[in-house]
Amino acid sequence: MSETWLIRGARPLGGEPADILIRDGLIDSIGAATAPAGAQAIGADGLIALPGLVDLHTHLREPGREDAETVETGTRAAALGGFTAVHAMANTDPVADTAGVVEQIWRLGRQAGHCDVHPVGAVTVGLGGARLAELGAMADSAARVRVFSDDGKCVSDAVLMRRALEYVKAFDGVIAQHAQEPRLTDGAQLNEGEMSARLGLTGWPAVAEEAIIARDCLLAAHVGSALHICHVSTAGSVEIIRWAKGKGWRVTAEVTPHHLLLTDSLAAGYDPVYKVNPPLRTAADVAALREGLADGTIDCVATDHAPHPVEDKETEWDTAAFGMTGLETALRVVQQAMVDTGLLDWAGVADRMSRRPAVIGRLAGAGGELAPGQPASLTLYDPAARDTVNPATHASRSRNSPFGGMELPGRVVATFLRGIPTVLDGKIA
Ligand SMILES: [Zn+2]
Repeated sequence: MSETWLIRGARPLGGEPADILIRDGLIDSIGAATAPAGAQAIGADGLIALPGLVDLHTHLREPGREDAETVETGTRAAALGGFTAVHAMANTDPVADTAGVVEQIWRLGRQAGHCDVHPVGAVTVGLGGARLAELGAMADSAARVRVFSDDGKCVSDAVLMRRALEYVKAFDGVIAQHAQEPRLTDGAQLNEGEMSARLGLTGWPAVAEEAIIARDCLLAAHVGSALHICHVSTAGSVEIIRWAKGKGWRVTAEVTPHHLLLTDSLAAGYDPVYKVNPPLRTAADVAALREGLADGTIDCVATDHAPHPVEDKETEWDTAAFGMTGLETALRVVQQAMVDTGLLDWAGVADRMSRRPAVIGRLAGAGGELAPGQPASLTLYDPAARDTVNPATHASRSRNSPFGGMELPGRVVATFLRGIPTVLDGKIA
């Protein structure tokens, strides 16, 4: 179905106001325009136009944990957050470790239609960390998997990690590592430091992340392959990645919105909504992550949207599940942490939340420029809006947002996927 839309007076990448004409799924023109016959118009004064956001790290939970999220509810949440493409992590039940499962998830995404769903394939069979999964078959499947990850678990065996890195070179794939040395984090609950000591919670040392990142940068360089590091959370990790990039190695990295804004001091009340893997760290880590994202050491923002039902989350800290929802608040948190602090402009946000994640995910047709002839996948965002986050109003099936009750700037007003609105006036279209 072809629709014609005229978006009046939006500011592409925060620049001068312009009219954006959308026709046949493409951006037709940017500049002063009169509405063609039959066009639908949107007044967008004061709104910023960004290319549709791309998330490298989403847990959609389907198949297996439909009580936490489904492809339908998770992609609704994504569209409402301004996303037009998400990568669905492989730790489902069954695990996405075969062509059959990744194709099932890919099909569910197409049926839902709220945004593109790109399944991530597991690196090892059943996330067991013992045998490589059928990486080639997943790459050749209809889902065309290019990103592989055991996320939730670390590929801790160095030989297996080396083999995975070697294997994906054949089809320009990338291994996305959840960097967590398992022996150093046995029973770990919270960043190892003053706060974990005070609360009597088992510490999660920064070195458990940094040691794996250092090892894997060296392995990726040794075999000449592409490594992506999930949810970087420590200042030391940023330094190691800066060093590896300085060598010209094929290493990329992501940071989550929550690690850009929140610290481990929030755990003081033992509220498990702040329990996450990797854990919230210190203010010094937050500062280093922001700096790393600003200078490009960290390539992109990825949500690690990790929905959990109430019974898994609202319990004692020790037994609560790790994870936070994030799709519906990501852009707002990035505005607060990066834009309102002067660290990134809107062109920088477009780069870190759309262009670069699309490059890392090997996505053609996403992360493009706002320019005539490009697919009309874009989001309209009001940076002057401000309100208190209420997870009860979220489209996600789960409510475990650490930003609940917090006042944040911004509001996603509209999202277009290849010329078709998925969100209008802040609601699912
Ligand atoms: Zn992870």
